[in-house]
Amino acid sequence: MRRPKITEWRIIAQTAWLLVLSSALLGVPYFSSGPWTKNIFWPNLSTRFLIYNPTTSFLYQIQSRLSSGWESYYVTIVIPLVIFILLVIVLGRVWCGWLCPMGFLQDILLRIRKRLGIPYSEVSPKAVLVLNQTGYVILFLISFISFAVGVTFLGMNNFFSRAELPFEMVAPPRPITIFLQQVLGWESWDAAIPLPGLIIALAIIALSFKVRHFWCRICPAGAMMSLLNRKALVSIEKDGTKCTKCRVCLRACPMDIEEIYEEKELDNVTNPTCIHCYRCVELCPENGCLSVKFLNKTLTMSKYPYSRNVKGVVK
Ligand code: SF4
Ligand code: SF4
Ligand code: SF4
Repeated sequence: MRRPKITEWRIIAQTAWLLVLSSALLGVPYFSSGPWTKNIFWPNLSTRFLIYNPTTSFLYQIQSRLSSGWESYYVTIVIPLVIFILLVIVLGRVWCGWLCPMGFLQDILLRIRKRLGIPYSEVSPKAVLVLNQTGYVILFLISFISFAVGVTFLGMNNFFSRAELPFEMVAPPRPITIFLQQVLGWESWDAAIPLPGLIIALAIIALSFKVRHFWCRICPAGAMMSLLNRKALVSIEKDGTKCTKCRVCLRACPMDIEEIYEEKELDNVTNPTCIHCYRCVELCPENGCLSVKFLNKTLTMSKYPYSRNVKGVVK
């Protein structure tokens, strides 16, 4: 019997997680309010806008707590932050490649693009860098404005309310999530979708047809995880002696990461922006050239446990 490919496992995981996120609608109570789980915030933005959201978005919580002002409330950021750091140290950005609904949406857009035969634009290393730095800028602005609203610095509280911080208005997951809920009949068509967010969401969707995973390149949650991604216990390793420089990994990588192709000597080739989709490992034609490791234990490697004909797969 043919074994499932990595991509198929990812689709199963992404779909299952989407069902978990909708679990409250299926009668499962909120698990984000339990005594043990209330401090575990997931690093995506979408769940904040799900009706009966069973989990809480990390970025939303950071904004919300920073904008609450001084006093003991700031202390409550510490526990979720420590949990978040531990999760990223163990799993890196596995969240992005395997669970995040926004990542899943971009995977779907990528497939639609391929079906339509629209070629993607390769992003130059310089542009990749600029886009990645943009994620950090957005992250800084989110944190700074939320903080300034909380301590009434520069009169920011006159411009923004805690309920509608700027990122809440412009982040694309909000209109996308609300729209999907409206289509599914879970949300009234009267529900407000902020116009700036709607315009940005449409622009991101359109751009995704040319630049693969466009939003993930500037996503502030992704930027936060990038800081520890290379140090995570899960990593991609390369045996440079087996590499034939065929460029398949580079063409397959939705984040245009050069390092996976370029790197010759280093074992660990996990780039900070790597979303751990393992497309490179799945499609590399050289046996054992690329592998996914967890604490030095090999989880899977290129051309194992199945061999693949990559011709025509990477578009
Ligand atoms: S980088 Fe992409 S996949 Fe990762 S949290 Fe952001 S939107 Fe989700
Ligand atoms: S796909 Fe494998 S063999 Fe080809 S360039 Fe990448 S690492 Fe080297
Ligand atoms: S380097 Fe490999 S695992 Fe990382 S994003 Fe690119 S294709 Fe996915």
